[in-house]
Amino acid sequence: MPSDRDRDQAPPSPYDVVSVGGGPAGLAAALALGRACRRVLVCDAGPRRNAAAARVHNFVTRDGTPPDELRAIGRAQLAAYPDVEVRDAPVLGVAGPRGALQVTVGGDVVAARRLLLCTGMVDELLPLDGFRELWGHAVFQCPYCHGWEARGRRWGYLVHAAGAPHLVPFAIQLRAWTPDVVVFTHGDAALPAEARARLEAAGVRLAAAPTVRLIARGQGLEAVELADGTRVPCEALFAHPPQQQTALVRALGLDLDDDGLVRTDPMSRETSRPGIYAAGDLTTRMQAALPAAAAGMQAAAAINVDLALELAAAGAR
Ligand SMILES: Cc1cc2nc3c(=O)[nH]c(=O)nc-3n(C[C@H](O)[C@H](O)[C@H](O)COP(=O)(O)OP(=O)(O)OC[C@H]3O[C@@H](n4cnc5c(N)ncnc54)[C@H](O)[C@@H]3O)c2cc1C
Repeated sequence: MPSDRDRDQAPPSPYDVVSVGGGPAGLAAALALGRACRRVLVCDAGPRRNAAAARVHNFVTRDGTPPDELRAIGRAQLAAYPDVEVRDAPVLGVAGPRGALQVTVGGDVVAARRLLLCTGMVDELLPLDGFRELWGHAVFQCPYCHGWEARGRRWGYLVHAAGAPHLVPFAIQLRAWTPDVVVFTHGDAALPAEARARLEAAGVRLAAAPTVRLIARGQGLEAVELADGTRVPCEALFAHPPQQQTALVRALGLDLDDDGLVRTDPMSRETSRPGIYAAGDLTTRMQAALPAAAAGMQAAAAINVDLALELAAAGAR
């Protein structure tokens, strides 16, 4: 039998999973893993994508909840599971093989069998006067999140790369919320004639001169000013600024797709690096809270099955 001294000196047993990120994906994953009797550490540090938004919409049962409150509810529900620990600390690095990962959490190194990345994405806000101030208030990424509140008003879609493949369907769908849609193409040289024709046929107007600034009133948008001096009235502007993976994900050197999103196996959500999984915004263009939570839960179940098989093969539980 080990003595008290042996026990004191024994290294702490590894976490089954370290989950990086305490947004919808990371919290949902931790809940599922906690309920599967797994030992989980959730690490969360710093800014999250929707920090600028006052409310999270389109999350059934939580429609209109402030983002901090959504996270607080998630953490409160995790507190019921004794093997789930949450730390407000950054994960700085990961070393070691699948099953025996060494994860640097702040100034500490912890052992983990698996790592789940739920780190979200970093938006690189456009260097356009007024863009940063209005982001999340009158400039949005997603009409499903914030369209209802601005329905029937004057809308714009600011395209910073006119050849973007989703431009036409994205712009035309906006007419579900309002008949008044202008696409700002920042100079339409790259906009194919066919795309222009489809937009015009759908009743979407085009403003081709480069945009120079957004004219705000408080946290509201009044107009978009073009380089030729025209002010196009606009009360809600949609835009998809470029995104980057977080520093941790970039440092891990995982396989990314053409959009810079982490590639995962569709079922297991394992990345190109064995033992490291990913769920939520960092893996998909469908970036919203509910899909992120669903992906976190799916990853948790896949990891649990994987751990169970591994432990069973080793004769343990
Ligand atoms: C302005 C705005 C408004 C939005 N409004 C809505 C809305 O109304 N409804 C909706 O459904 N969606 C909305 N979204 C999208 C939604 O916020 C995201 O899809 C969702 O938050 C993604 O969840 P996630 O868990 O993948 O990532 P996030 O919520 O971004 O969480 C990732 C977390 O990981 C942490 N992290 C990153 N790296 C590390 C590290 N190395 N160590 C520790 N922690 C780390 C981050 O600090 C962050 O807290 C909005 C987005 C924006 C930009």
